[in-house]
Amino acid sequence: MSKILMVASEVAPFLKTGGLADVMGSLPAALVRAGESVTVVMPRYRGVDAPDFYRLREDLPVWLNGFRHRTDIDACDRDGVRYLFVDAPWFYNRDGVYSSGGKDWGDNHIRYGVLCLAALAIAREIESPDIFHVHDWQAALLPVYQKSWFGGDPRLMRARTLLTIHNLGYQGQFGPEAMGELGLEQRLFDAGEMEFHGQVNLLKGGLVASDWLTTVSPTYGREIQTPEYGFGLDGLLRARSGNLTGILNGVDYRDWDPATDRFLPANYSPEELSGKLACKRDLIEYFGLPPEAMERPLIGIVSRFAEQKGFDLIEHIAGALADEPMTLIALGSGSPHWENMFRNLTTWRPDKFAHWIGFSNEMAHRIEAGSDIFLMPSRYEPCGLNQIYSLKYGTPPIVRATGGLDDTIEEGTGFKFHEHSPDALLETVRYAIRTWFDRDGWQDRMKRGMAKDFSWDQSARAYQDLYSHLLTR
Ligand code: ADP
Repeated sequence: MSKILMVASEVAPFLKTGGLADVMGSLPAALVRAGESVTVVMPRYRGVDAPDFYRLREDLPVWLNGFRHRTDIDACDRDGVRYLFVDAPWFYNRDGVYSSGGKDWGDNHIRYGVLCLAALAIAREIESPDIFHVHDWQAALLPVYQKSWFGGDPRLMRARTLLTIHNLGYQGQFGPEAMGELGLEQRLFDAGEMEFHGQVNLLKGGLVASDWLTTVSPTYGREIQTPEYGFGLDGLLRARSGNLTGILNGVDYRDWDPATDRFLPANYSPEELSGKLACKRDLIEYFGLPPEAMERPLIGIVSRFAEQKGFDLIEHIAGALADEPMTLIALGSGSPHWENMFRNLTTWRPDKFAHWIGFSNEMAHRIEAGSDIFLMPSRYEPCGLNQIYSLKYGTPPIVRATGGLDDTIEEGTGFKFHEHSPDALLETVRYAIRTWFDRDGWQDRMKRGMAKDFSWDQSARAYQDLYSHLLTR
């Protein structure tokens, strides 16, 4: 058994803005089931609370640039995993996790620097791990601090470091003054370390300093080593390719199974599919779509409205889609441009388009269940979870063949297109719509998808093998 200390900026069910939280909410428990000991550290943001929280440590000091920051450590234990919350209200008790009013907090580097330093203080004073497993740019400073500040501390230096890239598009870049503000030596402001086009790049620092790197699907692991997907870090990732592994994310079927999903008006399974029709009817009525919508395929979208997700393609084909025998419902929020696009589509053709702008876990479940087809035409996708949920919900997805979408969807379970172009998307959507009208063939397709198993246990084993490898190196 190894002792793993994970650090991340969001963990379901405590705080979630995207797929990282889903992973952090289920990978640790899967590792514990496989025999590991896992502690997870995250910030105690505003609203992060539960009746089983208890205070583990009062006033664990974090020193940064001669300032002593007070942090209290709160905890809870679930499924054998210990969750620790760094309570530093000055940094985390705010009205937005990463941003407010569409603007990132100006001190995000300090907020997440403090998270990493608090995790190192936990390792020194509360429980020392064999492995620090850190996630994304918000936790990438941990290996940097470990090697630069604590190089002489044997308790910390024995531990190996593993950095998982959940999305290379988010690197945590700040002005050069961040080096001083983070208490980092100027020698690290170098192209071979954390400097990137004149900025301080926290993810890059972690990519250089960590013992091993992983990303969340094998295909994305290869893609990020190319200029097209590398966001300027492909050269570094190629140089580290011997220490870079792609491990596909799993999903948590305790939360995502139409047979037990408590958010649905009716449950269903591959053996008894009638509940799915009830879910579709419920959705159509809820969104005020015409009853004829029951007679044509309902296409669902659940997504952050970000450039990455391919909304430019949907914008191009929306006019043509309106002429197809289909209905489209989108749930999401993010870029005002895409939010307005869906508002305008609904105003223009309320018989064909509906939307919910915002974040609603319940609505995400209802759309997965009530839709016939799921749409995810991402420009790039490190792993993607919604297409995997869609398989389980009997909602064959249309995906672009990239990253984890390519690794999880086959022609028999969904629909793939390759080129990032409106024509390629439109052709595939039209083909999916035509295919839906062949009812028997469609049910076979649904059932093939529903039979797929992407539960965490297999992926957890891959992480376990990697931990063992790291500890014997
Ligand atoms: P990403 O991490 O890039 O956002 P993923 O597909 O890996 O994409 O994970 C997204 C997760 O966030 C899924 O669990 C999805 O259901 C959820 N999600 C995204 N947008 C919303 C929303 N507007 N409301 C509810 N859940 C959402």
